[in-house]
Amino acid sequence: LVVLDRVNKHFGEQHVLKDISLTVSRGEVVVVIGPSGSGKSTLCRTINRLETIDSGSITIDGRALPAEGAALARLRADVGMVFQSFNLFAHKTVLQNVTLGQTVVRRRSAADATRRAMELLDRVGVANQAGKMPAQLSGGQQQRVAIARALAMDPQVMLFDEPTSALDPEMIAEVLDVMEGLADDGMTMLVVTHEMGFARKAADRVVFMADGEIVEEAAPDAFFDRPTSSRAKEFLSKVL
Ligand code: ATP
Ligand code: MG
Repeated sequence: LVVLDRVNKHFGEQHVLKDISLTVSRGEVVVVIGPSGSGKSTLCRTINRLETIDSGSITIDGRALPAEGAALARLRADVGMVFQSFNLFAHKTVLQNVTLGQTVVRRRSAADATRRAMELLDRVGVANQAGKMPAQLSGGQQQRVAIARALAMDPQVMLFDEPTSALDPEMIAEVLDVMEGLADDGMTMLVVTHEMGFARKAADRVVFMADGEIVEEAAPDAFFDRPTSSRAKEFLSKVL
């Protein structure tokens, strides 16, 4: 569904993605881990064209990423993204946050958008917060709203970039539970996370990045129990 082929990206002199080839198949959950600065966020951001690439190609469902305009807006709806910082629209209510894209990009009626939004807010456990402003919610609740907002667009794939790393420990579990539920329901997901428990439980495949390269790629049990590269061994000795 998502295919990156020999993708390269520089920031000035710095080569941050080095010949990255990666495929995420429909229904697959791929977890990306690696040291800080290894290019994980940049990788996510290239997939919905928040960053351009210097060479190589990225396709979603066989189509190249559109450069601009309405096609780009639809791409971003097809590729839901949840960031470390919650990125909700601060001056809109929780409900409006989840209906806005539906009416503007998906052109649904207000009634349909509201129905779908309430369904999703209920699914992530915050339906009772629908009338509040984002700032009135806990971090975990805001992150669950952000997930509902992305899901409301009926994305083909969801990208998560360290969705729990800004959260207090007791809120991490509630967000990971929602993500595990999505994985169980067959959502295609690319997840950057430091939550190794989640990776072990939910991932079909773990991708280990270091210095802009994919160093190792394996099923979670194989990766965590028998890493082959010295970089991965060193990383795991620090985080496990
Ligand atoms: P972390 O685990 O800390 O989030 P990461 O693996 O997500 O790290 P990236 O954010 O992708 O790493 O950054 C990869 C490299 O690219 C870093 O060295 C970073 O400083 C650099 N970089 C990222 N964004 C930019 C930018 N907009 N301009 C210049 N350099 C950037
Ligand atoms: Mg990052």
